[in-house]
Amino acid sequence: MARAYEKLLAISAELRDLGALRSLAGWDQETHMPPKGAANRAEQLSALSGVIHEKLTDPQIGELIAQSADAASEAFDQANLRVMKKEYDRACKLPTELVSDLARTGALAQQHWKEARKKDEFARFLPWLEKLLRLQKQKAACLDPDKPPYDVLLDLYEPNMTTAQLQPLFSELRDGVVDLVQRIDSSGKQPRTDFLGTREYPQAAQQAFLDELLEGLGFDREAGRIDVAAHPFCCGLSTSDVRLTVRYNEDDPRPSIFGLIHEAGHGLYEQGLPIAHDRQPAAAAASLGLHESQSRLWENTVGRSRPFWQHFYPKLQSRLSALSDIDVETWYGAINEAKPSLIRVESDEVTYNLHIILRMELEIAMLDGDLAVRDLPAAWNEKMQQYFGIQPPSDADGVLQDVHWSLGAMGYFPTYTLGNLYGAQLCAKMRSELTDLDEQTAAGNLIPVLDWMRTHIHSQGRLHEPADLVSRATGEGLSAGPLLAYLNQKYGDLYDLG
Ligand code: ZN
Repeated sequence: MARAYEKLLAISAELRDLGALRSLAGWDQETHMPPKGAANRAEQLSALSGVIHEKLTDPQIGELIAQSADAASEAFDQANLRVMKKEYDRACKLPTELVSDLARTGALAQQHWKEARKKDEFARFLPWLEKLLRLQKQKAACLDPDKPPYDVLLDLYEPNMTTAQLQPLFSELRDGVVDLVQRIDSSGKQPRTDFLGTREYPQAAQQAFLDELLEGLGFDREAGRIDVAAHPFCCGLSTSDVRLTVRYNEDDPRPSIFGLIHEAGHGLYEQGLPIAHDRQPAAAAASLGLHESQSRLWENTVGRSRPFWQHFYPKLQSRLSALSDIDVETWYGAINEAKPSLIRVESDEVTYNLHIILRMELEIAMLDGDLAVRDLPAAWNEKMQQYFGIQPPSDADGVLQDVHWSLGAMGYFPTYTLGNLYGAQLCAKMRSELTDLDEQTAAGNLIPVLDWMRTHIHSQGRLHEPADLVSRATGEGLSAGPLLAYLNQKYGDLYDLG
């Protein structure tokens, strides 16, 4: 029934449009909305979410999906049906009361989390986290009572990924990274960083450099823009309208530069989604993990590499006179400083994944009932000692540092490390095919990287499940090997590990 399928696509396009408007309202809230607009904006967002949920759970959609099965002969049509069916089934399985209880509790819990973090009082957040955990368990049971709750929640962010698949990968990565961190520590070598946080780097000059950078990355400014926000993010309204945000620190240019490269990595993915299938269900990023693979490979593998700065450092120096006495090798060392630290979002490429693995292990223990929420701070500190050799002086710098749990997002953290694993595997394959990549990068030509990602990842949308997409692009199943090899080689060289 080709007609049913056409109708289904029309409904899905409308859902995408409403979703884009909801994102636009969210983007505006973080960038331009005056503070007094907050209360009304919350109502507006909630009204729009209600309309979207109602449309998505219309029984007509279920009928149209069933009638469309024969019409979907092309691979992309089948992917459209797969995605649409999953979203529809999931939305229908969640009782409306649970959906609104989750939204309301999330909004309130976030306020209590902020207070708790400010006052360094975990006890203030404890009852809210207990309630959120209970609701997440309920949600998992509604969606699929036969699966372990963590698998059900993980699937919301990373389709088809399971704990059984993740755990061995993450354990191998954890052991390899803990060993690398110890070797870096005993090398006694530390890069020079005294020129960061102490000198003046005017915002206007940083901004001028970011404009050059964005052009070099191949981001289409006619189909996107940059604004300032407290917490940088990327908001893709469509392939032809992608919003990036950055924040500036006038005594350190690193947050704006690497924040922008990261968000541009997300933005390039959004701009590269298959335009021929615009507004269709499968014309979207494959998963959060894949999205993060793109942002982190641009930020770290490309953006913190020597060839990249061979080209861009003279340009940066000409904008920022405070760097005039710092040579490119000193800059390269400083932007790759690796050392155990308390805060995930400020951590380096090497230790970052340990922060994620620690969180995932605690989430699984809480969902399985092996760890009571009241014992969470102690468990956190114990793992910090074990993996990093340091302990947070307060819960504010420990268990209370991230917003995710206060929003009820459990099973989300692993997507960051999956992104690093996917990214390393994709880059290793790309390097094997593009043998002059370093020379091209050093000459300022980043288009080969973009083209490779466009072909193998961006243009594929949700044609395949995330892990399959990476396997198809690289010819190998997901493994921790490429990321560990990349980290060992890069940091072995930086820290003379021999
Ligand atoms: Zn990101």
